[in-house]
Amino acid sequence: MKEIVVISGKGGTGKTSIVASFAALAKNIVLADCDVDAADLHLVLHPNIKQTSDFSGGKQASVITEKCTGCGKCQEVCNFNAVLFNGPANDVVEKTCTIDPISCEGCGVCVHFCPNDAIEFKDAVNGQWFISDTRFGPMVHARLGIAEENSGKLVTLIRKEAKRIASEQNKDLLIIDGSPGIGCPVIASITGADIVLVITEPTLSGKHDLVRVADLTAGFNIPTLVAINKFDLNPDIAEQIEEDACKRNVRVVGKIRYDKAFTKAQIMKCSVVEYTGSAVSQDVKALWRNVTYAF
Ligand code: SF4
Ligand code: SF4
Repeated sequence: MKEIVVISGKGGTGKTSIVASFAALAKNIVLADCDVDAADLHLVLHPNIKQTSDFSGGKQASVITEKCTGCGKCQEVCNFNAVLFNGPANDVVEKTCTIDPISCEGCGVCVHFCPNDAIEFKDAVNGQWFISDTRFGPMVHARLGIAEENSGKLVTLIRKEAKRIASEQNKDLLIIDGSPGIGCPVIASITGADIVLVITEPTLSGKHDLVRVADLTAGFNIPTLVAINKFDLNPDIAEQIEEDACKRNVRVVGKIRYDKAFTKAQIMKCSVVEYTGSAVSQDVKALWRNVTYAF
């Protein structure tokens, strides 16, 4: 089973639309949406959810009001200003402490120092992940709670589950919609992949992002390909991107013209290759052919 991860330097480059088109063009695949901070592959693929599980990225402290004596020790030791003196009265004191779940980093220091064992320390539920069926094959995806972090851990979980399904069902290919940027989630998306395809745009930020992402994938020794989306909006910068890619031994395997069909396909909740057979669809098909040659 081969594994391709599609990433971009930032969001909004058309990455997910291209992944959806690959899903339509490929055979015998599993899909994984590892862009957990802005998951939207499900909007195009309409997954039929078969299994839902909670995701816990760490621990969460909470005060047991009845046991709290309002001594303030937890507030004193918390380095994240997560403890508030705004809790309700109990049989002993007028005011107790509470913990702001958004600010709490789950370090456990307050739990250790509370003299009355008045702080619970449970697994936090930071989101949910799903195993679904789509018209192109199984898909593993997730929804992270608002302001939740630890998305690198969730990405690792999604990839692991997608690989398990691919192995159990004898699939030939795992297509991953990776996280944008160069942080922890994207590293979790790409490590150990067979190929990384970077989607970029002909803008100055797209050019800089490509260099950063290419340096990142080179650091992990992963064969890297590039596609320039909307290349015809700025042919000069598109050419500079090709030169930058060449200097880094990164092959440009596709250039996709600007076409409103991408947006129209999204509105119709399908991929561009399903929506139209026009020139832009041929660009995406040519890109897919070149990607498959690279395996
Ligand atoms: S340390 Fe424990 S008892 Fe003291 S205020 Fe905090 S929760 Fe309440
Ligand atoms: S677990 Fe850590 S971050 Fe959370 S309230 Fe306690 S001391 Fe603060």
